Amino acid sequence: MAEPRCPRCGDSLADYTEDDLVYLTGDDRPYCSGECVVATWRAAQKEPAVGPRCGNNPNVRLSPGDQQAVDEFRAYLARRRAGGPPERYPFSDGGPS
Ligand SMILES: [Zn+2]
Repeated sequence: MAEPRCPRCGDSLADYTEDDLVYLTGDDRPYCSGECVVATWRAAQKEPAVGPRCGNNPNVRLSPGDQQAVDEFRAYLARRRAGGPPERYPFSDGGPS
């Protein structure tokens, strides 16, 4: 079996016990330390590979504020479809300034 290495820093994990290894959510590779997990997670946040930053993209985790905006907009679209009164701007914050 190939010697396991930390995917972030490349350190050999051969001397680590299972208790020493740290895992990143959604990644089954073991890391040498929490620092490497955090660094990898941060790098992944900046990666555009997940696709457009959009509420319909399942790869994008929306912040609570973004999620609220998406929910408000969906509610607005539902009201439009239902033939409700016209609304100037669907978001509660009054729109972009
Ligand atoms: Zn590492």
